[in-house]
Amino acid sequence: MKNLWCWRCQMEVPMLDEEEYAIAAKLYSQGFEKIESGKSREERFKPMLDYYNNLTGFEETEPNAILHHRIEQYGPPCENCGKPYRTPLASFCAACGNKRVLQTN
Ligand SMILES: [Zn+2]
Ligand SMILES: [Zn+2]
Repeated sequence: MKNLWCWRCQMEVPMLDEEEYAIAAKLYSQGFEKIESGKSREERFKPMLDYYNNLTGFEETEPNAILHHRIEQYGPPCENCGKPYRTPLASFCAACGNKRVLQTN
C-alpha cells in the first residue's frame, strides 16, 4: 500500500500493490457471486471495503473506486512535481507537462 495521487479522484489515496490488489479483486468478484443471495449491494461488498479500509485506514464506501487504486496502473512519480505519470508508458507528465526521460537500459 502506498499513498499516491489519483487522477480520477483528484486527490491522494491509498493505492494497492499487486498482492493486496489480488485480494481486493477477489473479494470484489465474490460480491457479484452473492447477487442471488438477495443481500444488498452494501452487504455484498462489505468484505472488500473492510479489507481495504482496515489495510489503509481510509473510509472508502465505493467498491468500484478501489479497483482503480492499483499502483501497477500508474507510472513512477514525476521528477518535477512528484505526481505519478498517468500510465507506466506516459511520455510526459499530465500535471505539469514535464517531459519524461525514459530509462534506456
Ligand atoms: Zn481514484
Ligand atoms: Zn509533473
